[in-house]
Amino acid sequence: MAQTLDIYIDGQFRQSDCADSVPVVNPATQELLVNAPLTTTAEIDLAVASARKAFLQWRTVPASERVRMMMTYQMLLKERQDDIATILSQETGKIFADAKGEVWRGIEVAEQACNIPSLMMGETAENVAREINTYSYLQPLGVCVGITPFNFPAMIPLWMFPLAIACGNAFILKPSEQDPMTPNKLVELFYESGFPKDIIQLVHGGKDQVDDLITHEQVKAISFVGSVQVGQHVYRLGTDKLKRVQCLTGAKNHLVVMPDADKEQAISGLVGSAVGAAGQRCMANSVAVFVGESRQWITDLRDALAAATPGPWNGEASAYGPQISRRAKDRILGYIEKGKEEGATCLLDGSECSVEDYPDGNWVGPTLFTDIDVAMAIYTDEIFGPVLLAVQVDSLQQAIELINDSPYGNGTSIFTASGGAARKFQHEVEAGQVGINVPIPVPLPFFSFTGWKNSFYGDQHAYGKQAVRFYTETKTITSRWFRTDSAADSTSEPNMTIKLR
Ligand code: NAD
Repeated sequence: MAQTLDIYIDGQFRQSDCADSVPVVNPATQELLVNAPLTTTAEIDLAVASARKAFLQWRTVPASERVRMMMTYQMLLKERQDDIATILSQETGKIFADAKGEVWRGIEVAEQACNIPSLMMGETAENVAREINTYSYLQPLGVCVGITPFNFPAMIPLWMFPLAIACGNAFILKPSEQDPMTPNKLVELFYESGFPKDIIQLVHGGKDQVDDLITHEQVKAISFVGSVQVGQHVYRLGTDKLKRVQCLTGAKNHLVVMPDADKEQAISGLVGSAVGAAGQRCMANSVAVFVGESRQWITDLRDALAAATPGPWNGEASAYGPQISRRAKDRILGYIEKGKEEGATCLLDGSECSVEDYPDGNWVGPTLFTDIDVAMAIYTDEIFGPVLLAVQVDSLQQAIELINDSPYGNGTSIFTASGGAARKFQHEVEAGQVGINVPIPVPLPFFSFTGWKNSFYGDQHAYGKQAVRFYTETKTITSRWFRTDSAADSTSEPNMTIKLR
């Protein structure tokens, strides 16, 4: 019988007292790996209380000392990158190279958190009024919560807690119940790095646990990454409870191919970004927009896609892995069927995909549709699978208008040899992250991850300087010291106005 995964609360890894759990299976075989416990409300209360207590000490630890622990942590993450990626591959099905890449992109944020003393510096101004100085500090908030999705069980938690904790906060992580083993490893290594106990707590579960956390009186800020529907719920409930909330949500990203683009680069960028990770990326390109004569390349795109076939995480020929669950696979197959019913042409159909020796895997082969109408469900909805739509337009202007009409705005890219076209595109397109001859423009962590429209709810984005703002409160101090040498400069008359003097 598979074991039930530990939670980490009140200073230790331990079994939850809950009666229920969620099975976590290897998506290539359906083998039961572990059960994810549905943490009880009493345990969540204890997690928040211990985090709050830990915060009161942690906020007094000098930033340079906090950073030293974070430096050990990022070093340990690097040393154990392969171990983390192996666990990650087993529970998500992600091919090993992609899993390692994901861990690396999380490590980069932990590296950035080592820069926190400079990032947390406030502002100063001398003599703002006679003999009065003003200066500001960034101070941590208290207990912050992170709720993360299944598709990046290492990178997305690492987008959140290293920066929040380096800022001086305590953190409670509630990762996806579909792949909870990787986050347990991240927290285990965190405590191996020498951090005091209770700075991070780890609870498992789903909706009930999320609702308990985001409505908890002692929770100050909530970072969420996941689907639009759940993100809207978290944003509404969290802000209703007057919390600070940032929600990074779903997407439908377009990649524009201009007729002057480097054809091989454009096609290879489309294949990797559309079906890589089985299309389970919020920055996947699921719509290719062919401008003018570039439409002739659609047949080459189909052939290149057909060669990218799924397989097990450690298979040498695997271009990508299975979908995370049977439910996710069935949902994608439903969309492929619907696309055909609605009249789109299916140039490549991955619905009957099978992989030798893995008859039970959640496989979906690469799929390509043309003859798309923007009212079709395959165009309006995020499919989150290896399904690419090829749309044809006559001009760059039409491509930009198509993208700007989309309710999503996570990312978009253009492949072109023209600086003028690229300049127009980057200036006019309504999406938060733009790639120019770069298919997946996910910024490195000295910038922030800046989705727009229905791909983000909140004000301050994830990682980068915006995350430091999100995880801190600014305190502005106005100060005067009375001089003993020259009483003539100051007056002790009451100041009956608001003017500083
Ligand atoms: P999801 O919304 O189903 O789950 C996200 C988290 O919310 C999980 O921890 C889950 O346990 C919890 N949750 C699920 N249902 C809930 C409910 N009803 N109430 C409260 N909490 C609930 O998302 P997912 O399927 O795990 O992840 C895929 C989605 O995440 C896609 O839409 C993808 O685009 C999005 N995503 C966005 C970004 C981004 O940066 N914008 C990054 C990664 C993934």
